Amino acid sequence: MVGIPSVFVRLAGCPLRCRWCDTKYAWDEKSGTEYSINEVAEIADGADGRFVVITGGEPMTNSQLPELVQKLKASDRHITIETAGIAFMPDLACNLMSISPKLSNSAPDDPKLAVIHEDSRLDIAVLRKLIDNYKYQLKFVVDSQANLAEIQQTIEKLGNVNSEKVMLMPQAATRDELLAKSPMVADMCKHTGFAFCPRLQILLWNNERGT
Ligand code: SF4
Repeated sequence: MVGIPSVFVRLAGCPLRCRWCDTKYAWDEKSGTEYSINEVAEIADGADGRFVVITGGEPMTNSQLPELVQKLKASDRHITIETAGIAFMPDLACNLMSISPKLSNSAPDDPKLAVIHEDSRLDIAVLRKLIDNYKYQLKFVVDSQANLAEIQQTIEKLGNVNSEKVMLMPQAATRDELLAKSPMVADMCKHTGFAFCPRLQILLWNNERGT
């Protein structure tokens, strides 16, 4: 939901440790501040949060996610869940599953972490279930021109992807990096018909925490 003011609920914990992750502070399950589900709903109310994005970390590995979604949905909010697509949960009352499968370009530099990452970053069966069971978009992070072949192979393996729901976004932690890589990614989009994801939070606020 590009451009719509939204409340972001960031859940702690992610096993993937992607090299370019811009929310490394959320990797540890014990990071952040502990809130009850009711408190999260109250904060969303206070922020006039009709649109809520539940993100991470990796929300789909958090056992409290179904209860959180149900509580937030009770006030008729539009709920998006952002996930790397590494785990499946049925019957979540979300409006959009925003799936960002991780490519080999996200491998951590640490060799031990790289093994864990490679083992769990792409589960085609889980991705298929997410696509089959939820309204979805599929977002790929592009670091270089060479990534396009891997993106197309992944889509082919999935087999059931509506190409109109595929988005490409430049890998960038800063505004300068984003502006430098955007023309390459925009060009890929022109040739493939995939949508360009502008990453407004980096363009406008240089990825400042809390934006
Ligand atoms: S999956 Fe997302 S939150 Fe987890 S390490 Fe990768 S970019 Fe960061």
